[in-house]
Amino acid sequence: MNINQVKLLKSLAKTLVPTRYRPAIAWNYFGLVSRLYRGDQVVCPCCNGHFRQFLPSSVNQRPNVVCPRCLSLERHRLLWLYLQERTNLFTQSLKMLHIAPELCFYHAFRKLPKLDYLPADLDSPLAAVSVDITDIPYNDNTFDVIICNHVLEHIDDDRKAMSELCRVLKPGGWAIVQSPLDTKRAHTVEDAAIVSPQARKAHYGHDDHRRIYGQDYKDRLEAAGFSVRIDEYVRELGDDVIQKYRLTKNEYIYLCEK
Ligand SMILES: [Zn+2]
Repeated sequence: MNINQVKLLKSLAKTLVPTRYRPAIAWNYFGLVSRLYRGDQVVCPCCNGHFRQFLPSSVNQRPNVVCPRCLSLERHRLLWLYLQERTNLFTQSLKMLHIAPELCFYHAFRKLPKLDYLPADLDSPLAAVSVDITDIPYNDNTFDVIICNHVLEHIDDDRKAMSELCRVLKPGGWAIVQSPLDTKRAHTVEDAAIVSPQARKAHYGHDDHRRIYGQDYKDRLEAAGFSVRIDEYVRELGDDVIQKYRLTKNEYIYLCEK
């Protein structure tokens, strides 16, 4: 399947399929596609699929990126390995809040017998509850674990969102809070006057982003109350592992503890 065919299928699906049915249909559709891609060149740890290659990314046309079964990307596969090797997620009874649940994690997390799993979003069909991340409707110190990936760059008041994540996390709990970063920039670039999709695309590279985070991303998370560790876990992996799972070497994990 080439990139244009992937784009066409996505476009058709958006036109024809009601939102609430899309995750289940996508899951079953890609189950079929994954059989065509079966092989032994690459492995997806999220779904334990073995394939001759991954699908191309339709966003920036990178080849060999998307898991044909669970749709994981490089960053999802890295995070799954990290969760397995560096956290207590798979061994202890924990209550997790998953903001903007990704399909590849959603199915895997639901299968974990000890995990009390709460997928949450404003409008995702995968969400069990509707949650505004700037006003999370749960008491202080409710969750042992929070996963929030590639959300904050879309939020106007991201500092409030970070504070809310920290508020509902239990003392001793941990959160993974990932956002796209430009690590060459010392400071985050944002301007409240930039509001049109065209202007956002021009300034931030995406028409629905509110900013480009720089090296001060960690400072923002710490200002919200977290103790943040930037874990360069990927640098400890050998090239054979990087190739096997198709990871990128510049994705660091922001582990936020309270
Ligand atoms: Zn997968």
